[in-house]
Amino acid sequence: MKKSHEVITVTRPYLPNLDTFKGMVDEIWANRWLTNQGPLHQKFEKAIADIFDESQITLTVNGHMALDIMLKGLAITGEVITTPFTFASTAHAITMNGLTPVFCDVDENSLTLDPNQIESLITEKTSAILPVHVYGFPCDVSRIDVIAKKHKLKVLYDAAHTFGCRLNGKALATYGDVSMLSFHATKLFHSIEGGALVYGDTSYKCLFDAYKNFGIEGEEKIDYIGLNAKMNEFQAAMGLCVLTDLPDILHERAAITKRYRERLTDVSGIRMFRADEIPNYEYNYAYLPVLFDSQKFGKSRDDVYVQLKKNGVFSRKYFYPLVTEFGCYANQFSPKDTPIAHKAASQILCLPIYNGLGLNDVDRICDVICSR
Ligand SMILES: *Cc1c(COP(=O)(O)O)cnc(C)c1O
Repeated sequence: MKKSHEVITVTRPYLPNLDTFKGMVDEIWANRWLTNQGPLHQKFEKAIADIFDESQITLTVNGHMALDIMLKGLAITGEVITTPFTFASTAHAITMNGLTPVFCDVDENSLTLDPNQIESLITEKTSAILPVHVYGFPCDVSRIDVIAKKHKLKVLYDAAHTFGCRLNGKALATYGDVSMLSFHATKLFHSIEGGALVYGDTSYKCLFDAYKNFGIEGEEKIDYIGLNAKMNEFQAAMGLCVLTDLPDILHERAAITKRYRERLTDVSGIRMFRADEIPNYEYNYAYLPVLFDSQKFGKSRDDVYVQLKKNGVFSRKYFYPLVTEFGCYANQFSPKDTPIAHKAASQILCLPIYNGLGLNDVDRICDVICSR
């Protein structure tokens, strides 16, 4: 329980039991193997493969490098259809690889890529669709799959928010050709920094593993112009420790979400999401996004943000601005081309959710939001 003057941040890194982590560090000392697919890396990779239904796994130093490797490794060319309602990483990975992002609007209910609008954006230059399961809300994977097959496109998911999500009994990140995960400290599951690629095609394993290690396939065999994106042993140790606690992490986040729901669902002008009620879906409660309709609610999203801040509560306008409004992409794209995403970006606020956030803290946050 936090005192009323204590600040509450939007997220807080999860720390596993310190002695467990120290035990792993002792192992690293004994092995004297610090990076380059060491024993803990191998153990962590195996553990992740188990969670992802025996998919192929390539661990990386962070999620962004995983996105980069999947675009480079699969030699994606030309145009990539994606969403503007995402973290900077998604679009930057595309443009930094010399590709052109083509921004498709999102569906109003899920805030993920609207399958009805994808086909009209496909040209002869399109080679892939890169949707984002934003906040852990599942994209319409089956319709996207049909469109991709029809036009012979790759489906590459930014699944950074999906750890622990399962659709129809399968991990959400196992849909599509390849999915990228982020294990950043601020994500619900983490390895300090870290990431992974999840895929079914066994032939990709050598390719992606080589790409993250300078393109090296064997002592005297270097056939790819790769980069250095290897996960080290300390990251793997943290990942293994946090993984043990995953069931508790998800359980606690569900309880926090429930409390927010009880307090805010029926408030006029506030819209909450219910990803946990999607049929055959197990949600991970990764984020707590709320939309504020200023007309109905009487206060704008920005008003709420400022008011919370004055009361020591740091929420985040996640995702505002839209990628298409970033200074680095100025004059290249128009936010008006994706009106639903544009509107969502103006109304969205992510409220604090992390392990250790008390239900009384949630009450304190909701009291501020609802105060006049
Ligand atoms: C966190 C995140 C990334 C990047 O992952 P890192 O591990 O921080 O490099 C990419 N896409 C989305 C949607 C993210 O939230």
